[in-house]
Amino acid sequence: MKVHYPPFMISIAVIFFGLFLTSNAESTWWENNTADPPNIIVIFADDLGYGDLGVFGHPSNKTPHLDRMAYEGQKWTNFYVAAPVCTPSRAGLLTGRLPIRSGMCSDKRRVLFPDSKGGLPQTEITIARALKGNGYQTAAVGKWHLGHQSPFLPTDHGFDSYFGIPYSNDMDKVETTDHFTLAETERYQAYNVPILRDKTEVERPADQRTITKRYTDEVVGKIKDLKDKGPFFIYLAHSLPHIPLFRSEEFKDTSVGGIYGDVIEEVDWSVGQILETLKEEGIAENTLVVFTSDNGPWHTFRTHGGTAGLLRGAKGGTFEGGMREPTIFWWPGKIQPAVVTDMGTTMDLMPTFCALSNTKLPDDRVYDGFDITPLLMGTGKGKRETVFYYRGAQVYAIRKGDYKAHFITQLEYGNPTAHPVTNPPIPLENGATILEEPLLYNVNIDPGERFNIAADHPQIIAEIREVLAQHKAGLVPVENQLEK
Ligand code: MG
Repeated sequence: MKVHYPPFMISIAVIFFGLFLTSNAESTWWENNTADPPNIIVIFADDLGYGDLGVFGHPSNKTPHLDRMAYEGQKWTNFYVAAPVCTPSRAGLLTGRLPIRSGMCSDKRRVLFPDSKGGLPQTEITIARALKGNGYQTAAVGKWHLGHQSPFLPTDHGFDSYFGIPYSNDMDKVETTDHFTLAETERYQAYNVPILRDKTEVERPADQRTITKRYTDEVVGKIKDLKDKGPFFIYLAHSLPHIPLFRSEEFKDTSVGGIYGDVIEEVDWSVGQILETLKEEGIAENTLVVFTSDNGPWHTFRTHGGTAGLLRGAKGGTFEGGMREPTIFWWPGKIQPAVVTDMGTTMDLMPTFCALSNTKLPDDRVYDGFDITPLLMGTGKGKRETVFYYRGAQVYAIRKGDYKAHFITQLEYGNPTAHPVTNPPIPLENGATILEEPLLYNVNIDPGERFNIAADHPQIIAEIREVLAQHKAGLVPVENQLEK
């Protein structure tokens, strides 16, 4: 017998079925997601400090796009990089491993230079190579600084394409005028840095006045070009606000924060362009975007550098300001909007991206990152318990939970003054000091590392010493790439 249901009953059934599908989709989004790998974009600023963004407390810089990105997504307030300077920090992000494991850190040369012969070894597996092996299209745009000759270039390391300045924008300096003065002149010709497309030099010296704009155009073009061909991974590493500072004509003298403020606001504009493109192209809800910076502000350049806000220290050093970075995760409809105070690091991106894309994380090596998907989705806790603060090839400090112990101290670039301690330090040749008794801070209660509480917590120091001993015992010596 054929049954005819009244229209209102059909409507109710459809609504209930829809609700069932919706709740089911929420409970099984993970399975759905792994079947539909997301696009991933990492935006990595250079030398942008913890306190440089409006949403991280800067009172003058206007960063509406990053602020909105944080409100729509997650603002991470305890997120670290692998090192307080460019080259090792980038090696850590792209490999998910501390740079000591790839030979990408050194006490003698802290970054790669134009005369360097080394670079990220082919034995390392970058995020790009891992995702490419799982069908991703990959593109690198901007600063590389992991070796500017083959086989160390982006297209040697899993990226389908590259466009950018292959090392720092202050290198290949051909004028004798000091950096500080040059920062006022915008004379880009003073730095004879190249721009490469893939492996071919297409411009020299790079006209850095338009570099942020051109990187942005490149990324926007890649998004439009790749979106219908499968999932993509785009790594945008801005050359700025690393000094020398440059901004395009549209941003000249438009901020109240001087040249540095103009530069930050152009980087913010760039983020806005990228997020807007994702929305216009209808792929925002299948794209994870991460924003962070490679190390703290460069205090050597005083007012030309940024600020670490309430954090102590800056670029080059292992106080918080050198390595804790303003970090935002954005993925509309997927990421639970929140302020996350759990610890995270750039080395967590590799295992997280692999998990999100159902890509197998290689099992033949040690990883220093953890999958932070449960924190992003609000479905569980993070696994990270420790953070290592390397300066060069040495562990200077370790954070375990709330507590951070400094075993060796040396302040940031441009600040030769020894850190005042209550116990007699042992001076080292490089100006650092090994502390007979470590300094201890509770960096949740005292993020500015102002009050040494070591005397009150000998047990915690003993526990952190044990973490250090175990870490050192697990390290395998490798060829150093920065000293070649
Ligand atoms: Mg840097």
